[in-house]
Amino acid sequence: MQSREISTDAAHVDVAIVGGGLAGLVAAANLARAGHRVALIERGAALGGRAASERRHDVHLDRGPRALYVRGSAERGLKRLGIEPAGERPDLAGRMWTAHADHPLPATPWRLLTSPALPGRARWQLMRTLMALPRLDLDPWRGRPLGDWLAGHAPEAAAALAMFIRLSTYCHPVDDLDAADALAQLAAAGRGVRYLHGGWQSMVDALAAVAEGAGVHRVQGRALRWRDGGFDLGDDRRITAQVPLVAAGPRVAEAIYGVDGLAGEPVRAACLTVALDRDRGPRFVLGRDVPLYAAVASRTARLGPPGGAVVHLMRNLAPGERGHGHRPALEAALERMHPGWRTALHTARWMPEMTITHRRPTVASGGLGGRPPIEPRPGCFVAGDWVGSRGWLADAAVASAEAAARAIDERLAARAAA
Ligand SMILES: Cc1cc2nc3c(=O)[nH]c(=O)nc-3n(C[C@H](O)[C@H](O)[C@H](O)COP(=O)(O)OP(=O)(O)OC[C@H]3O[C@@H](n4cnc5c(N)ncnc54)[C@H](O)[C@@H]3O)c2cc1C
Repeated sequence: MQSREISTDAAHVDVAIVGGGLAGLVAAANLARAGHRVALIERGAALGGRAASERRHDVHLDRGPRALYVRGSAERGLKRLGIEPAGERPDLAGRMWTAHADHPLPATPWRLLTSPALPGRARWQLMRTLMALPRLDLDPWRGRPLGDWLAGHAPEAAAALAMFIRLSTYCHPVDDLDAADALAQLAAAGRGVRYLHGGWQSMVDALAAVAEGAGVHRVQGRALRWRDGGFDLGDDRRITAQVPLVAAGPRVAEAIYGVDGLAGEPVRAACLTVALDRDRGPRFVLGRDVPLYAAVASRTARLGPPGGAVVHLMRNLAPGERGHGHRPALEAALERMHPGWRTALHTARWMPEMTITHRRPTVASGGLGGRPPIEPRPGCFVAGDWVGSRGWLADAAVASAEAAARAIDERLAARAAA
């Protein structure tokens, strides 16, 4: 989607959207398709926000590990826009590292039943729990900490379950999460995920093409404030609109609308992504006792280079924890997976403190239901992975964007009819 200067067309629109990440793009495409004039204001040179990948020669480097949930809100929202995300389901035949040992990852019934990492009782308990998960009645667990639910399991089973919940929520620690929300996400992961060919940029490009095709005006600039029916962009540039939507994160929304109380505690991680000229070693590793994740994403998705590997390594960060010091440990994990990797290094990307999602749904913050609604103040709409009670991560970004687009469409229709 080409960047456009503010044309007469875009200087006054029906809807002005701040933020060209997944949420902003989905809202813009839906509103433009519904016949509204839409301006999408993005401060960056490129669209996509956290979903954008970087292309270095023949390698696609996502910002950290990426899994699109099969039949999740993001996938369904993309399909409604005519986009079929192309990718494959990863094989979870991997390893589980404990403090002193390296075991097969107990992610399938057979590996679970034969896992030497789990004593007999823990093994059967974990098996029963994972099999019952899709039908588990979550209501009794709403508003209760996940730690209470884990405490009902043998210690080894609880440690493995906490590991899988960290994988599907990116949260660390997991004990204070709302148990019903966390278990719903674990069940969603059980339905499968997809790694996308070309990285998540393929999804961003497809969305940008739909938005552009529907007539969305891309405006490059940083929105500073919403005032008198318009966004100030600095340099005397201004876009007026009937309705504003901020899809640029809670702090930006607070500053733009002059409100507070939208931001929560973010979920963050230190991410090291490397492209190697050769491929060997396990395809997937999870730390049971330390929050470590490593995956050779290129064995599942086409990310280049041919014959080589794109490996994501990640350390989940606890609230307030700094990420900069974790690089040596992630490199040591890579050495264990892929001895001699330095001699095969093609390129590396180090992102020590990435915001994975803007709000950790703990019991104290009200779980997913405690996130701000799409219209936290009359006439001030928001969308993103911190908005609305539906879904986690990209699923929440797309679900809230669709909900905001529907509500704005109804608001504009009601005004036109009045
Ligand atoms: C390492 C990592 C791994 C992840 N893995 C997964 C995963 O496996 N599965 C999953 O579902 N999700 C995952 N996510 C989460 C997912 O990427 C996000 O939930 C989603 O991309 C958020 O989209 P968004 O549009 O809400 O926000 P963003 O992508 O943050 O977009 C906000 C946009 O607003 C722009 N902006 C900010 N301020 C202004 C301003 N003042 N004016 C104009 N523009 C502005 C920014 O430049 C940005 O483009 C991961 C995230 C990370 C970082």
